This record gives sequence, C-alpha cells and structure tokens, in this order.
Amino acid sequence: MANYVVGLAGGIGSGKSAVSDRFNTQGVRIVDADVAARTVVEPGEPALAEIVDHFGRGVLDDAGRLDRRKLRSLVFQDPAERRWLERALHPRINALMRDQLAEARSPYAILVNPLMRNRDARANRILVVDVSEAVQIERTMARDRVDRAQAKAIMANQLDREARLAFADDVIVNDGSIDDLHARVDALHPTYVALAAAQAAHR
Ligand code: ADP
Repeated sequence: MANYVVGLAGGIGSGKSAVSDRFNTQGVRIVDADVAARTVVEPGEPALAEIVDHFGRGVLDDAGRLDRRKLRSLVFQDPAERRWLERALHPRINALMRDQLAEARSPYAILVNPLMRNRDARANRILVVDVSEAVQIERTMARDRVDRAQAKAIMANQLDREARLAFADDVIVNDGSIDDLHARVDALHPTYVALAAAQAAHR
C-alpha cells in the first residue's frame, strides 16, 4: 500500500501525462483515472457487457472493442443516458484505482485525476501542472488534431486555472521545454519521498 498519495491535476494539454511519465521513470507508481476508465471497458470486462446490453452492439467497433466516440455521441445530448453510464462505470473505475493504490509498492504514488474539481480525498497532497491558456490550446491542437474552437470548448467545460490553483499544495509551471519540465519533476521527487517517509514514521 502506498502510504502517501500525491494527486495530480491540470487542464487538458497542461502536461499531466508528461509529468506522470517522468515520475514513473523515477520508479513512482502512477494510478491514472483516464487509464482506469479505459481498462474497465476492455473486452471481457463486465462493464462492457452491460453497456452492450443497454445501448446495443452498435457501440462496438469491428474488433469488438468499445467505440468510445460512438458511445460519447449517444450520451452527449442525453443526461439520463449519461447518468446511466456514469452509474455503470464510476464504481468500477473507483474500485480499480483503489486496488491499484493498495498494490503500489513505491514510496508514494501519483494519482492522476483530470476531473479533479476539489482536493481529491484520496490524496495527501495536491500537485497542479499549470500553463497559460494560449500554450494549453496550442499543445492540445497539436496533440489531438482539433481546431482552436474545439480546444477552447473542451477547456470551457473544465475547471478554470485559478480554481485549480486554489487547492494546489505544489505547482509545476509547464511553460518551458520538456527538459525544463523533467527538471521540475525531478526537483519535487525527493520532497515527496521525504513527506512519505515522515508520514510512515507517524504510523
Ligand atoms: P495532459 O495529459 O495534461 O492532457 P500532455 O502531457 O499530454 O497533457 O501534454 C499535452 C501535449 O503537449 C503532449 O503532446 C505533450 O507531448 C506536449 N507537451 C507537454 N509538455 C510540453 C513541453 N514542456 N514542451 C513541449 N511540449 C509539451
């Protein structure tokens, strides 16, 4: 069990994956809500069978995997269906993440939660990766091949930067190169190792 959990938040394109990848190279276990959300609907998982029962086989692609884009389009304008889907998925996503945190063997674990709207109760400390909206838009457009309006629309649905920064214990500003980002992550790592050790000593 990781006795110390650092929650990682940030808007789309801010650099959460880049930050968590770097922590991972330091041997830190990463538990990512987006990854968990994909894992619970893998072929053979009970959640996928429930979704197919509910929406029909039209939500599957030719290979029998969930077509997430199709599913999104089905629930997009339909709050009742969206709630149904959330009720089917959220308990499973949370259970999987709980198991992954329980199994973590690193001194501390990073919990990536892109939907964090407040301090994540599972975390001892919150790290926010922050970047200007202009840079965020550019990086999102380049990565996801979306246009500026689409990138802005996604951001408009997310928590704004100030609200996120208000609950941060630590902030990484991702306004430089990838090397700069790695250096900022590496500088935080010993702090978290020490905090985890201090927490363990108090048990
Ligand atoms: P998030 O996980 O928060 O959505 P990512 O870590 O995927 O963000 O970063 C968004 C995009 O920007 C990715 O393509 C990533 O490679 C790139 N990126 C992240 N940080 C930097 C940086 N400091 N310089 C240049 N590109 C970056």
